[in-house]
Amino acid sequence: MSNQDDMILVAGAGGFIGGHLVARLLARGHRNVRAVDIKPIGEWYQVFREADNRVLDLKSLANCRTAVAGVSRIYNLAADMGGMGFIETHKAECMLSVLINTHLLMAAREAEVERYFYASSACVYAADKQTDADVTALKEADAYPAMPEDGYGWEKLFSERMCRHFREDYGVETRMARFHNVYGPFGTWDGGREKAPAAMCRKVIQAKLTGKHEIEIWGDGEQTRSFMYIDDCLTGSMAIMGSPIREPINLGSSELVSINRLVDIVEKIAGITLKRSYKLDAPKGVRGRNSDNAMILEKLRWEPSIRLEDGMEKTYRWIWDQITAQPSMLRRAS
Ligand code: NAD
Repeated sequence: MSNQDDMILVAGAGGFIGGHLVARLLARGHRNVRAVDIKPIGEWYQVFREADNRVLDLKSLANCRTAVAGVSRIYNLAADMGGMGFIETHKAECMLSVLINTHLLMAAREAEVERYFYASSACVYAADKQTDADVTALKEADAYPAMPEDGYGWEKLFSERMCRHFREDYGVETRMARFHNVYGPFGTWDGGREKAPAAMCRKVIQAKLTGKHEIEIWGDGEQTRSFMYIDDCLTGSMAIMGSPIREPINLGSSELVSINRLVDIVEKIAGITLKRSYKLDAPKGVRGRNSDNAMILEKLRWEPSIRLEDGMEKTYRWIWDQITAQPSMLRRAS
């Protein structure tokens, strides 16, 4: 087991989940946390002085070697990604994240790291199992025969295999969690990479602030998803990292909602009702997706349980603060 002085690398620490993970590790008393991201530090979502913060492009093997020096555990959360609007239109860019995981694994093997965590995604699941809004939750075996989300999902599935084979062939102890839609404060909420929970908060807040009580929804709003609050994502990731679970495992909420229901929740938090219009040709992803949590319940006796209404309340308040701190945002009703 790791002790508080071991060096832990968080790759992608300038991003949403990585930033929260650095915060959690420091709060748990880990004294040596190395935080790495390609973005200039001024663009990181959260920065902690106590961490060893470095700007490195982890697509390069040389930079991975630098990042991994002296490290005993690696959380790989670095990837080029975003919501459906991004991944449906940037497939090559998403697939290039394969270089990050490949080179980090090679550097991890050379440095003989104890554990390696890979953030995979529910986008690895076969599309033909997700054609109905009234879904049967996805269990781990449903990733094969493979027909994942084009681009982003293929990269995730390939990188899972790479983790598996580095363990089998080279003894790198890899762990893989398939995250299902994570949301919360300090996430992307604007600019094209945001996901549905943050996008809905932003749109409702803009409607409230501008008095233009309308909202545009991508698709017919009846597509279904589950959304996991960031605190559950961190708890689950750290538990999986410390566990003997060697196969990819779902890490997601099993509280299934339609996008229309998600909008209801945000409207209730905001105290307004909006006229909805539906953009049927917008990127909308699969028709329905939920996380089957039988495996995580069996292995960890735990599953994500923070209620969507509670997590969305905190997310809404945080996005409200971001928007109202930038007066120019008020003029941009969308
Ligand atoms: P994010 O975009 O907020 O964070 C990813 C970070 O990786 C960014 O800060 C980015 O700058 C960094 N990065 C990209 N390329 C890099 C490179 N070459 N070198 C170093 N850093 C680089 O995303 P997130 O929501 O925090 O997601 C973290 C991980 O979890 C990703 O692998 C993502 O695919 C996975 N995931 C997230 C979700 C979700 O809902 N957020 C769902 C499934 C899987």
